[in-house]
Amino acid sequence: MFGGTAPAFAAADPLGGDLLHRDVRDLCAFGPRRTGTDAEHGASAWVAERLRAAGLEVRLDPYPFRQWRLTGWDVELVAGTASAEVAAFPRTVATHPIWNTRPAAGEADLVYVGSGTQKELDRHDLRGKAVLVDGKVLLNVFATYNADGYVYWNAAARGAVAMFATSDAPGNLVRMIGMGRNELDANPIPAFTVGRKDFGMMRRASHAGTARIRYRLDATHVDGVTHDVVATLPGSRTGKDGIVACAHTDSMFDGALDDATGIAGLIGLAHHFAARPRHRRPKPMTFLAVTGHDTGFPHLGVRHWIEANAAQVATLSGFCSLDHLAGIAAEDLGGDRPVRRGGDEERLLLISDNALLYGLTAQVAVKHRLFPSIPAPEPLARANPDLEGMFVERGVPSVNMTMAYPWYHTPQDTPDKIPPTQLARSTRAYRDILEAMQRMPSGWLRRAETSPRKR
Ligand SMILES: [Zn+2]
Repeated sequence: MFGGTAPAFAAADPLGGDLLHRDVRDLCAFGPRRTGTDAEHGASAWVAERLRAAGLEVRLDPYPFRQWRLTGWDVELVAGTASAEVAAFPRTVATHPIWNTRPAAGEADLVYVGSGTQKELDRHDLRGKAVLVDGKVLLNVFATYNADGYVYWNAAARGAVAMFATSDAPGNLVRMIGMGRNELDANPIPAFTVGRKDFGMMRRASHAGTARIRYRLDATHVDGVTHDVVATLPGSRTGKDGIVACAHTDSMFDGALDDATGIAGLIGLAHHFAARPRHRRPKPMTFLAVTGHDTGFPHLGVRHWIEANAAQVATLSGFCSLDHLAGIAAEDLGGDRPVRRGGDEERLLLISDNALLYGLTAQVAVKHRLFPSIPAPEPLARANPDLEGMFVERGVPSVNMTMAYPWYHTPQDTPDKIPPTQLARSTRAYRDILEAMQRMPSGWLRRAETSPRKR
């Protein structure tokens, strides 16, 4: 040692890929974090502990909600024309209930309705039938059967008794997809997503003649409790002009990309900003972990926090949603396994109608090689009406730089598919946006926001 003192070890960089990835693994170790379950409560307590370790003031804010409790299900093709593919009946089908359906059991003829447009539905008498809905899941997230007036609701209105929709995921993986509108106990019929291979088998069976499906879904809606984790970091100025960063703790399966990556980023950023001298972070910051985005949609998300903090929301400088920060790039070409390729997945820059924030986000995306990136104004995309959408509605400049790979919302969304270096790039991009929000004079970003009323 040459004079002076040196630390025994350099402090680990909280935005380094290895630490971020460790948090992804630790959170996924809780298993599926369905809102209101013990696993979710444990995961939320763990997030609170990690944010406390960063030096923030943290509280768990419990609140009641209507919880969906799934205990079991099965679906079988019970009759049809025997073929090389299905020589004997019944034949079990790889499915998952669409999470917001209520309990049901029954048997019905299967009717293939293509992609389920109004015209296609009009061609059939759907009364007492189970509908089979085809489609694509665009960018691995947006199901076409959710686009045209939500096929689920149109089919139910025409008297269908059950819906089966393609997962459009690799091989026979079953993907969880919601239906946009969720009336909880009042949802009229059971609905399932189906592995793509089994979906093809059902489609061929329905074309060959009469095919019948038997289904059973054991699930109830009960009164549950969930928590927001609210961590605050005071600025050198008090009160107004705060900044919020947010990720969601809940998941249907292991949820590595969605959204352990966002929670890991949130923890890393909390460490980063807590370590900065207070005069370099004048605006108060809130680091928020919410639930009920994947397993409570669209009733939870940030709703509870927003309603409890209306005065603060009215003066917020900005909001960042950390949702799906990193994952290996792969192309699903219809086979059993996606083809891996270099670079990143296409990203969607979901952003409020704000030229200043657009410029900033584009610069940051290029700097950290977060491309290809597709700018999508949030007021048009309305991708997450329970997250950034709620802030945009209230005039808060908001951004979510998101992406999804072919394993999104399947049991295969696991930590081994999250590249630590990409996770670090993505988290640093948010660091730069949050730092720019800190530096901007009070009110600037908010004045650049096109208010929803002026649109
Ligand atoms: Zn998510």
